[in-house]
Amino acid sequence: MEFDYIIVHYDEIGLKGKNRGSFEELLIRNIEMKLKDLMKSCFRESGHLTIEINAKADISKIKEALSQIPGIAYFSFAKKVELNLDSLKKEAVSFLEDKKYDSFKVNTVRHDKGFELNSMELNSKLGEVIIKACNKKVKMKSPDIMLKIELSKKSAYISDEDIKGVGGLPTNPQQKVVALLSGGFDSPVAAYLMMKRGCEVILVHFHNKNQASSSVEGKITKLAEQLSKFQVKTKLCIVPFENLQKEIIMKVNSKLRMLIYRKFMLKIASKIAELNKAKFLIVGDSLSQVASQTFENLEATYTDSERHILSPLIGLDKREIIDLAKRIDTYEISAMPYGDCCSYFLAKHPTLKADVRLLKKNEALFDVDKLVESAIKQAKAKVI
Ligand code: ATP
Ligand code: MG
Repeated sequence: MEFDYIIVHYDEIGLKGKNRGSFEELLIRNIEMKLKDLMKSCFRESGHLTIEINAKADISKIKEALSQIPGIAYFSFAKKVELNLDSLKKEAVSFLEDKKYDSFKVNTVRHDKGFELNSMELNSKLGEVIIKACNKKVKMKSPDIMLKIELSKKSAYISDEDIKGVGGLPTNPQQKVVALLSGGFDSPVAAYLMMKRGCEVILVHFHNKNQASSSVEGKITKLAEQLSKFQVKTKLCIVPFENLQKEIIMKVNSKLRMLIYRKFMLKIASKIAELNKAKFLIVGDSLSQVASQTFENLEATYTDSERHILSPLIGLDKREIIDLAKRIDTYEISAMPYGDCCSYFLAKHPTLKADVRLLKKNEALFDVDKLVESAIKQAKAKVI
């Protein structure tokens, strides 16, 4: 079967009332930017988007790209058919010609109600023809093939497989955020969840070149490349952390160091957010998961941040985070060896209950503005 169209379905966009048009436009723009010359056009029809495929396009490439574009709940490769009963009968039989199956069911969805028959009537008319022409039986529950007929205002489409997308909302370049990306399992998932909710996520990684056991390229770039599949444009900033870290190690008690590393990371990330017109900082914290993420330490770390911090994983268990990491294919990359600078020169038993004043007292030991400025100057950004 040669498919010529794809029917793209969203769910949450459908609930947007008057704003629905602008979400659809964003989704069309993102699909166009991702599929490029794999497609000819993408347009709105009643209740869904329709993509006209380039005849020479590699279907597996289209499938991979669409299943990673936020805003798409599911999609199906389809054959376009003229909107009349005779064509539908003929094309339904020809659609099933080369397929191996014993049972089938016809499922008509009328996105536009103008057609002469209602869904039930069309289901039974097409069912009769298929039974006769193909000698197959109808099965209402778990048929081998579910033949889907979608009726729009001007055309009909036949398909037999719904492919799951990531759901969520389309990337909006006006909703920029900066995600702090470590080499661990959590922060890539946090970045992904924000992408899924329609944010354009800028990734920032702090790197101590004297300490990392493998190169940034080996792991962080790979993570960024994998995450870039879920949005249109991905900027990765690598910020050298060795000088700052040396100074922190000299001045701050090892029990508190982790929190001061984190405070500086948040300060530098806030500056990067400001420079890129990003509104929020995103971290991979999950409440009480590790010492730096106790209730008290999170409050001490987040207080006074120049930018608001969002922690999309805050209420998830590690198991749930790992399951998500596997689903978005960051798990294997995160499992690669890499010494994150956050775990450098720490006490065996770090403080579990820091307070804001204690952290402030320690921050006062530094010329913060100068250190932030120097880190920003040395940062390297690339677009993936
Ligand atoms: P992860 O699996 O994301 O590394 P974690 O449980 O190991 O999380 P921490 O090391 O305490 O937690 O880091 C908490 C958060 O701080 C990370 O999720 C990330 O957002 C940020 N972070 C930590 N280290 C770095 C780094 N080197 N560069 C950028 N962000 C970092
Ligand atoms: Mg970490």
